[in-house]
Amino acid sequence: MPTEIPDILVDSFGRRHNNLRVSVTDRCNLRCVYCMPEEVTFLPRAELLTFEEIERVARVATTLGVNKVRLTGGEPLLRRDLPRLVERLANVPGLSDVGLTTNGILLAREARRLREAGLERINISLDTMDREKFQQITRRDDFDRVIEGILAAKEAGFHPIKVNAVAIRGFTEDDVVPLARFALEHGLEMRFIEYMPLDAGRLWEREKVLFAAEMIELLEKGIAPLRPAANQDPRAPALDYDYTDGSGSVGFIASVSRPFCMSCNRLRLTAEGKLRNCLFSLEETDVRGLLREGGTDPEIAQAIRSCVAAKWEGHEINTARFIQPDRMMHSIGG
Ligand code: SAM
Ligand code: SF4
Repeated sequence: MPTEIPDILVDSFGRRHNNLRVSVTDRCNLRCVYCMPEEVTFLPRAELLTFEEIERVARVATTLGVNKVRLTGGEPLLRRDLPRLVERLANVPGLSDVGLTTNGILLAREARRLREAGLERINISLDTMDREKFQQITRRDDFDRVIEGILAAKEAGFHPIKVNAVAIRGFTEDDVVPLARFALEHGLEMRFIEYMPLDAGRLWEREKVLFAAEMIELLEKGIAPLRPAANQDPRAPALDYDYTDGSGSVGFIASVSRPFCMSCNRLRLTAEGKLRNCLFSLEETDVRGLLREGGTDPEIAQAIRSCVAAKWEGHEINTARFIQPDRMMHSIGG
């Protein structure tokens, strides 16, 4: 039975928030062009929330109805001893689901420990099956390590494993079918994410987004016809489709062509303790200050509530009013 979400974190558009995404670091061992620049100054370590601080925010958030946490970054596995944080969070009463989004590079080493620590779900990012293109997009030559990481996650018993690819026009078209085939062969769930304007070079343009509808066409030609999944969760950001030949499914996060803002249930905590009510927020609520200056749990709860209450209707990527936030994706936590 799905747990009822209490009517506490409800914004002025009636959206209930039960999903907290926590960035544990802004550092990364890749340099994906759509996410960060080649050269970057990272936060000093002392500015990052400690595991104790993250756990405290999560505990308070559960009293307000949050029941899902996803760890992200930067690359979360660069944070030493991440399984220890997973274990702490998995033991927070009311948190029924702890997930992780990773680039997979360090996963071969960590998958088993993460599983044992209580990690429920894992998403691994991979944009291409072509080693050279991997290097072009990530600016690093680590394709094999990512594949090893995916296989290690499978071996450790994670199921389902989602593989996320950012879909960029002029780059991703030839990767759609090979990625989807790789996922089908290994029992993984492939998800294509439309490229969003959170890149370092501010090179994003709507024309550079490869849309879900176009990818569906490519998959239907290259693999099998698709039909909308029967068990589609209307609150989930992904549009899920099943192959009609029964071979599996594929998802699309169509943030640009079909924004899902009206069903958004997410809040984000950056690595240095700023709460954001949207990926594209221009304003943030400082929680680290409260944590480090003797703030009480009710004060932290109030900060979370106010952040949700101030949430806007949705991003305006498709309008001339859109303003790209100063933060890049790696420093928000995708
Ligand atoms: N380093 C981890 C990883 O790559 O999975 C976690 C952090 S990363 C910021 C989280 C997700 O955001 C990844 O799946 C990545 O592909 C996606 N992402 C990054 N920049 C993006 C952009 N401009 N548009 C769409 N998705 C993006
Ligand atoms: Fe790193 Fe993930 Fe951003 Fe790529 S998408 S640079 S792996 S944080």
